[in-house]
Amino acid sequence: MSQVDRKFFVPIAKNAYKDVAQVIGYGATISAPHMHSYCLSLLADHTKPGASVLDIGSGSGYLTAVFGLMVGETGRTVGVERIPELVKRSIDAIKQTPAGHLMDKGRIVVHVADGKLGNEEGAPYDCIHVGAAAAELPEALVQQLKPGGRMVIPVGTDNQVISSNCYCRSINMKIPVLPLYIW
Ligand code: SAH
Repeated sequence: MSQVDRKFFVPIAKNAYKDVAQVIGYGATISAPHMHSYCLSLLADHTKPGASVLDIGSGSGYLTAVFGLMVGETGRTVGVERIPELVKRSIDAIKQTPAGHLMDKGRIVVHVADGKLGNEEGAPYDCIHVGAAAAELPEALVQQLKPGGRMVIPVGTDNQVISSNCYCRSINMKIPVLPLYIW
């Protein structure tokens, strides 16, 4: 995270380093830094150089850029976001960071699409991060996770309180739920 300056990803640069979520337009927010770092820490073992990452609801593109740097030139990071304007803006922002060359080389891509379907083209993934809440665990995402891979996804719609879950796909293809955290 220290390599990716948040000022490129927020609309008001002077707020870039506040530890709060910020509106980025089109009903979306960039998550607070503590939330980004928490998700990254949960996924750290699955974002080593060479790994493949799917970032659903990539929004500002901040985490997509960080994932890109973590998995490096031999890895691949796919962002999926449903709002075309945010995708364009996120690509412009990522290009201004040290992750820009990874985008130039096609190691980071961001698509406009419905994240519920994941991104079949780059599957299977070592790691899936979902930045948008889902009522249920989307089956397409489960299918696109490698055996032994990890997914962090907020599941639930209960009164704005989102229980976020961390799932690991075991080698024998069952999906044990790891009760890692709730906030
Ligand atoms: N990690 C992002 C989070 C952005 S907020 C960041 O910190 O910038 C969640 C994002 O998910 C929004 O940009 C929203 O447009 C997107 N989103 C919501 N539902 C989606 C869907 N079905 N498919 C793709 N993107 C979706």
